[in-house]
Amino acid sequence: MQEKNSSFHADLRCIECGKVYSIRQVIYRCSDCGGLLEVAHNLQSLRKNSADQWKNIFTERYRGAQEPFNSGVWGKKEWVLPQIEDSDIVTLGEGCSPLIRMKRFSQEIGAGDFRIKQCGISHTGSFKDLGMTVLVSHVKSLIAGGEKIRAVACASTGDTSAALAAYASAAGIPTVVFLPRGKISLAQLVQPLAAGALVISLETDFDGCMRIVKQVTEDTGIYLANSMNPLRIEGQKTISIEICQQLGWSVPDWIVIPGGNLGNVSALGAGFKMLKETGIISRMPRICLAQSANAAPMYKSFLNKFNKYEPVQAQATLASAIQIGDPVSYPRAVRTIREFDGIVEQASEDELANAAALADRTGFFNDPHTGVALACAMKLIKAGTIKKNEQTIVISTAHGLKFAEFKTRYHNKSLSDVNSLHSNTPVEIPGDIDTVRRVLGEKLRPSRGL
Ligand SMILES: *Cc1c(COP(=O)(O)O)cnc(C)c1O
Ligand SMILES: [Zn+2]
Repeated sequence: MQEKNSSFHADLRCIECGKVYSIRQVIYRCSDCGGLLEVAHNLQSLRKNSADQWKNIFTERYRGAQEPFNSGVWGKKEWVLPQIEDSDIVTLGEGCSPLIRMKRFSQEIGAGDFRIKQCGISHTGSFKDLGMTVLVSHVKSLIAGGEKIRAVACASTGDTSAALAAYASAAGIPTVVFLPRGKISLAQLVQPLAAGALVISLETDFDGCMRIVKQVTEDTGIYLANSMNPLRIEGQKTISIEICQQLGWSVPDWIVIPGGNLGNVSALGAGFKMLKETGIISRMPRICLAQSANAAPMYKSFLNKFNKYEPVQAQATLASAIQIGDPVSYPRAVRTIREFDGIVEQASEDELANAAALADRTGFFNDPHTGVALACAMKLIKAGTIKKNEQTIVISTAHGLKFAEFKTRYHNKSLSDVNSLHSNTPVEIPGDIDTVRRVLGEKLRPSRGL
């Protein structure tokens, strides 16, 4: 039978030297060696449930009526943050996002079984909600336990701040966000403003904002909400569990995921590792990290087999949420790529915009980051790295509606460095039926069925 929650247990552990800290300690790097931290679960207690028992528990809770376990993240609570009181959980119905088959797109690009995990339909329009529900719930429980926390804070390329502001405002926790001025979409800027966050717009880029927030959060009264904080990873790793669940507990051959600060690719790996360690799956997918060519430090270090890492000065890219030159989670991501026989690929502005648009033509509405992943997947298929008999999942990280400007400019051909191959613009004519009939006659091909 299912164990009581209290028998499951997780600590913080340094990924470099293995030093262990209490999960309730407010700490983001190892005090001995400066390494990044991870949440380490007690696998022995998780293994007291068989693989079939876990599958049943997860299936029973999925999209059910039992709060908060009907959230895609909290349905996996014992694997995520086992010690938290249910009453401290701050959920906005995140997760349980669709895994969508892309039949027509797949035909267009000569792929086999090709699907999108659409994390962009989440509450604030990006996958960042998956991590933020965990982090904000944890902060709520720390405050309830007497920890003096005045605010939560993050540096953001847009989506992190939107998610943090939403969850923190739902919990009544003050929020400070640092944004690179002029480098995020209008929708992304409006989200934290609407939630009442203190929005600080800095004359710098994301990496500059990250340096500031690290310094600000040296004061333990201001809690760091960037994915350097491993609690975020715990929520995000449920993407992997959900994908397997939606495939009837089978494992895809490839996962292609766009990366910037590199927390999410690490989370993806962490999810699959737990699935294997608990016996739910017996093999691993291969992972492709997809970067924008204008901000591709991981791609560059991949080319030299990760022997040398150098931060880059990230250049402007349509995929603005991954315009990051010095990713905080680089060491975590290298570990993941190595463990998953992974590769790193990059896409130019032209490739990412046209890939997103091509997929839009087959029933999607993609943001530019998903465009990066789609473009990289197309390259791998063309090169024969991904084979026709292999199943591929692309992680869509945000909703296209957050990037209306990108879409509009693509279709009216005003994006620099992009040749809009699939542009479509409105036909503007007078409002009379004869003209309308003439235009329909010109534009619509005679019916040829499907
Ligand atoms: C944050 C974000 C990413 C990248 O995730 P990392 O964990 O920073 O690598 C990709 N796409 C979108 C839309 C994002 O908001
Ligand atoms: Zn350490």
